Amino acid sequence: MKKILIIGAGFSGAVVANSLAKTGRYSIDVIDERNHIGGNCHTERDKETGIMVHKYGPHIFHTSNKLVWDYVNQFDRFHPFVNRVKSIYNGQVYSLPINLHTINQFYGKALSPGEAIDWIQSKGDKSIQEPKTFEEQAKKFVGEELYKAFFYGYTKKQWGCEPSELPASILKRLPVRFSYDDNYYNDRYQGIPENGYSYVIERILAHDLIRVKLNQKFSGESDIDLDYHHIFYTGPIDAFFSFRHGRLGYRTVYFKDFREEGDHQGNPVINYADESVPYTRIHEHKHFTPWESFDKTIYFEEYSKETTETDIPYYPKRLESDLKKLKLYEEEVRLIQKVSFLGRLATYRYLDMHHIIEEALDCAAKFLESDKSV
Ligand code: UDP
Repeated sequence: MKKILIIGAGFSGAVVANSLAKTGRYSIDVIDERNHIGGNCHTERDKETGIMVHKYGPHIFHTSNKLVWDYVNQFDRFHPFVNRVKSIYNGQVYSLPINLHTINQFYGKALSPGEAIDWIQSKGDKSIQEPKTFEEQAKKFVGEELYKAFFYGYTKKQWGCEPSELPASILKRLPVRFSYDDNYYNDRYQGIPENGYSYVIERILAHDLIRVKLNQKFSGESDIDLDYHHIFYTGPIDAFFSFRHGRLGYRTVYFKDFREEGDHQGNPVINYADESVPYTRIHEHKHFTPWESFDKTIYFEEYSKETTETDIPYYPKRLESDLKKLKLYEEEVRLIQKVSFLGRLATYRYLDMHHIIEEALDCAAKFLESDKSV
């Protein structure tokens, strides 16, 4: 039996472990430096209230890939869930993503879809041909006023820099709609697992050929045990190489948690667009499981800051300076046969859970194919 080491017990590591274990040809160790599985998707029922808490911030599963949807549904029941986010700006509550309601409320109008398209087009900056930055993308497609209201302050708080320094791809995550559809995502399938994400990942990892070892740190390339036939690494790419080309920029988030009776904000997520409010958003966990009911509530204020050596990296910043360093790391990755790099941190990309699962399934399939002859 060939020995495999997987570093990281988040979705990437778990999915690869599962695919390999099912062949019966591998014995797999999954290690994680934290004291729980699930990475940043980790969920846990609060002991006092029973509320399912998204310990590292809100996670809503969404995908248009039926294969990925069917995959996760093998491991738990996913309840239908439509993410309807609100944004508070200048003392008023608006609907996100920007939709007909947002536009009409913001401009004090009652425009039809066609009128709203013309109106917003008239606001767009026509001098921008191919938007490269977040700011250009916003100014071209929603115009200066909506950009300043809903994106500028939030993005400065979230990323700690000017939106003109960030890539357009970050904003492309969010749709702009000229209808009253306020679903935050465009994907065909959307849901929340009945028993939380850590349960899903626990089930993915549940196989006789998989051993999970928690509280076990991997210290990068020097720590590679030659006993292993292959290694799958899902930690930060720069950490693997002991940061020898410099640290890649990440934003991290931290939370102030509160509990009270009743309902705090009446919605799972409310964003705070004003720069003067120090947090970016508030998530109230019981609203992620509308099929359950609780008298008490738990909510988190979410704050964003630069990642220091002891913080958990969340969001790859991918500034020009980061991409230069990334190139150097990627050149090193190409020279290593025995290790596959996958997931948000090891590839330094802003990926969602569904991307991660799709790529992990693919990575495992390719590995199994190439390993047939070895
Ligand atoms: N964003 C914003 N205002 C909002 C919500 C999002 O400016 O009210 C920007 C911000 O830069 C954020 C990006 O859009 O990082 C992507 O938002 P998303 O909700 O996808 O972020 P996530 O849930 O992954 O933190």
